[in-house]
Amino acid sequence: MKFVAGLTCHLCGATYPAEALWVCVECLGPLEVSYDHAAIRGVVSRGLIESRPPSLWRYRELLPVEEPRTGLHSGFTPLVRATRLARELGLDELYIKDDSVNHPTFSYKDRVVSVAATRAVELGFQVFGCASTGNLAGSVAAHAARLGLPCYVFIPNDLEPAKILGAAIYEPHVVAVEGNYDDVNRLCTQIADRYGWGFANINLRAYYAEGAKTMGFEIAEQLGWRFPDHIVSPVAGGTLLPRIFKGLRELRDVGLVSGQLPKIHAAQPSGSAPVIKAIEAGLEFPEPVKPNTIAKSLAIGNPADGFQVVRVVKETGATGAMVSDEEILDAVQLLARTEGIFAEAAGGTTLAATRALIRRGVIKSSESVVVCITGNGFKTADVMFDRVARPTQIGRGLADFERVLGSQIGVVAAAAARA
Ligand SMILES: *Cc1c(COP(=O)(O)O)cnc(C)c1O
Ligand SMILES: [Zn+2]
Repeated sequence: MKFVAGLTCHLCGATYPAEALWVCVECLGPLEVSYDHAAIRGVVSRGLIESRPPSLWRYRELLPVEEPRTGLHSGFTPLVRATRLARELGLDELYIKDDSVNHPTFSYKDRVVSVAATRAVELGFQVFGCASTGNLAGSVAAHAARLGLPCYVFIPNDLEPAKILGAAIYEPHVVAVEGNYDDVNRLCTQIADRYGWGFANINLRAYYAEGAKTMGFEIAEQLGWRFPDHIVSPVAGGTLLPRIFKGLRELRDVGLVSGQLPKIHAAQPSGSAPVIKAIEAGLEFPEPVKPNTIAKSLAIGNPADGFQVVRVVKETGATGAMVSDEEILDAVQLLARTEGIFAEAAGGTTLAATRALIRRGVIKSSESVVVCITGNGFKTADVMFDRVARPTQIGRGLADFERVLGSQIGVVAAAAARA
């Protein structure tokens, strides 16, 4: 915490010590961690960062903890040059930032939870928990298990079975609340208040959000310490997108990368798109909606940081796109077919939105683009079963194979020619 200056209100600029505070006493605005950039500039270098293990903690001077306690293998996920997908989309330079293989729970949430869980221990919380649309529950439960912390995760009662399993396996208390994510969040705020438990995305939110910056740090480092022209990020509660921006800006402020910051575009499913609607209507604060989409990770109708997303999108000269469930599923398949990456529906949302932005001429073919894939397809496999071909059934003999598949692959013809 050598370099942490404190917490600053995002709205009115009031400052606070870096404790378990999350809203401004003056104006109820969200608090965010601020750093002594001049001091950091004096100690960090590209070489120092590159010499460290490949985890999000390689940027530790820009993260608000004393000493990393978990997430020692989280982050530093692949940035994949996607040439086949690029050709399909008509782009020259396209990358997938692939958090579908993040450690240990296969989503971007391992970034935010690594920081929140470490800080929860440092601040002395006895119970660690969260309000979740699924991925967060799994990540909170896994990191709590590693730290030996009692854990409560709260989820809406209509979650995919794989996501419930993905949390339950770590043996936290899983509480399914009758209602949607926004109801869950409201309840958890009351519990945090009354019982003093540490909720990753509520009273530890200022620290949680800092973890999301690492996605931005890594994109720039993995591009050879430069910025792309465009980044497309999914939006649920609105943590990730503004923190990618904050991360990139900090890299510039501490002298590690120079040049123009990218346009950071927002992607949401049409069935839960309060932020896109606000961008399109020119509103500063998104109006809450009632979510209805297969992309359940993104089904937040009243995003806590929605206004920050709107602000960053505007500030970077970017925009956003909302896409139908059908387009989302198509994009999941497209990514799998062209690049061998199986993303969850949230990833399909981001790629489908990228397609829409290309179609609209917002992203041009000669510009470099990074698409953020934030979760793994196996967690939302149920929405894909109808879309993939059934296995071809055959008997166990070579003749069975040739009878059923021979005409397709020319085996029969080749064998006849040899005979
Ligand atoms: C949580 C999550 C997001 C983004 O959420 P924010 O709350 O906007 O940071 C995106 N994709 C997946 C798969 C997620 O689990
Ligand atoms: Zn304030």
